[in-house]
Amino acid sequence: MKRAKQFRPAGAPSRKEQKQEADRWRGNAADRGYNHRWGKARLTHLARSPLCIGCDAEGLTVPATVVDHVDPHHGDPDKFWDTSMWQSCCKWHHDSVKQRLEALYARRQCTLTDLWLNSPLAIATAQGMRCDEA
Ligand SMILES: [Zn+2]
Repeated sequence: MKRAKQFRPAGAPSRKEQKQEADRWRGNAADRGYNHRWGKARLTHLARSPLCIGCDAEGLTVPATVVDHVDPHHGDPDKFWDTSMWQSCCKWHHDSVKQRLEALYARRQCTLTDLWLNSPLAIATAQGMRCDEA
């Protein structure tokens, strides 16, 4: 049976075209290093470091689901594969606390060391954000 075509306004890009456009702009996931090798390496890292280091620093035991690059790699393979700069964290720490810290770092308002989610700045940031959300 033929599937009905999804309606979209004339001239509007399809989902596929939108995705291609986004990939052109930022490089697709594989181009950024998120390939099969990364998939295996992140699982190994999570097995060795299974808890969120940010939550752990606050005395909370939370399984890590994300392997974060402490130093934003911006596609640089040397930074990307520097496993000494990987940290296990929960999605909340990655999506909230780390984004805020990286914004500070981009404005040179904190140091690379502060980007570790168990740094004093990260702990203070996380505690402030938990209060805001509560
Ligand atoms: Zn966490």
